[in-house]
Amino acid sequence: MDHYQLDTLAVRTGIHRSQFAEHSEAMYLTSSFVFDNAQQAADAFQKGIEGRNVYSRFTNPTVTAFEERLAALEGAECCVATASGMSAILAITMALFKAGDHVVISQGVFGSTVQLFTNFFEKFGMQVSFVPPTDPSAWEAALRPETKMFFVETPSNPLTEVSDIGALAAIAHRAGVVLIVDNCFCSPALQRPLDLGADIVIHSATKYLDGQGRVLGGAVLGKRSLVHGPMLQFMRNAGPSMSPFNAWVCLKGMETLGIRMEAHSARALELATWLEQHPRVARVFYPGLASHPQHALAMRQQKSGGGVVSFEVKGGREAAWRVIDATKLMSITGNLGDTKTTITHPATTTHGRIPQATRDAAGVTEGLIRVAVGLEAVVDLKADLARGLDG
Ligand SMILES: *Cc1c(COP(=O)(O)O)cnc(C)c1O
Repeated sequence: MDHYQLDTLAVRTGIHRSQFAEHSEAMYLTSSFVFDNAQQAADAFQKGIEGRNVYSRFTNPTVTAFEERLAALEGAECCVATASGMSAILAITMALFKAGDHVVISQGVFGSTVQLFTNFFEKFGMQVSFVPPTDPSAWEAALRPETKMFFVETPSNPLTEVSDIGALAAIAHRAGVVLIVDNCFCSPALQRPLDLGADIVIHSATKYLDGQGRVLGGAVLGKRSLVHGPMLQFMRNAGPSMSPFNAWVCLKGMETLGIRMEAHSARALELATWLEQHPRVARVFYPGLASHPQHALAMRQQKSGGGVVSFEVKGGREAAWRVIDATKLMSITGNLGDTKTTITHPATTTHGRIPQATRDAAGVTEGLIRVAVGLEAVVDLKADLARGLDG
């Protein structure tokens, strides 16, 4: 299948028809699998038989189909699905790293990712340093003999800062460090971090892979030698596994990933261009705009700007909340990657539990609003924002 384009792979990979010759992918809702005899069961449990399902905490055919399809889209040798994006980060960290290891992580990562590293990984003896996402020299300067992991999200949430994946990979590999990229904002339709030198990609399938805001899911992708054994052992013993139902929903979601990402990006660019002209808007953050500080890098690394636009309104929290409360169409919710446009005030929601100092360092100000542009008509989205901006 390797020679096919992404849109074709998204529709055609991971299909294993059952004896019923179904056209659409089957959903295997079963917790365990049966054996013909005691010897077969003993072999499967003790040696593990390739391709043989035992229990859905380790493998399940619908989950395997999801993994094969996502691996094809990311150009990865191996994919292991998880219950959520957060459990993907938890699982790969538990699988590959240990107490005493040092992690260098971007200041511009998802709120819960910051919490996971500082509240939990540090509690179990890892050391964590936060650095600016856009300055590779800061990553190099943060290296210590114990550094084992670089973790970055690009474009970042909510400021859409773009990190140079190739530059970070070069620094990481000179130091024997594993570079992990959270590719949630772009999805493989717009950016393939493994091609740019990353070692591991993590996903929140909850976002664009599902694409319609229905289920939670996650995944870890990379070289088979790095991901397969360690991840399966962790999944088998710790169990943050993806449900076959959720795998099926995301599997079907991925079929339209390419055309959805194009449509999200086109709408987001139009909205960002309009916001940039608005007198009540102090600044717009969108990689597709020429005014974005890493616009050139973004256009080299990504196919387009993606669906997330952030902007700072003049007048701080009061003005930002006024814009949010005046919307009638957009959903006030933290999710993104949905057909429905969502609007959030990061400083008091997704980034609300982060200490003020860390939040300020990341640039998440009180006037900042994040819009994850869905698939509604842009003219209606503009009118929805104009109500609060103009009023
Ligand atoms: C949502 C999100 C996550 C966490 O994913 P869940 O599926 O909600 O656990 C991680 N990284 C980014 C960039 C996200 O947007």
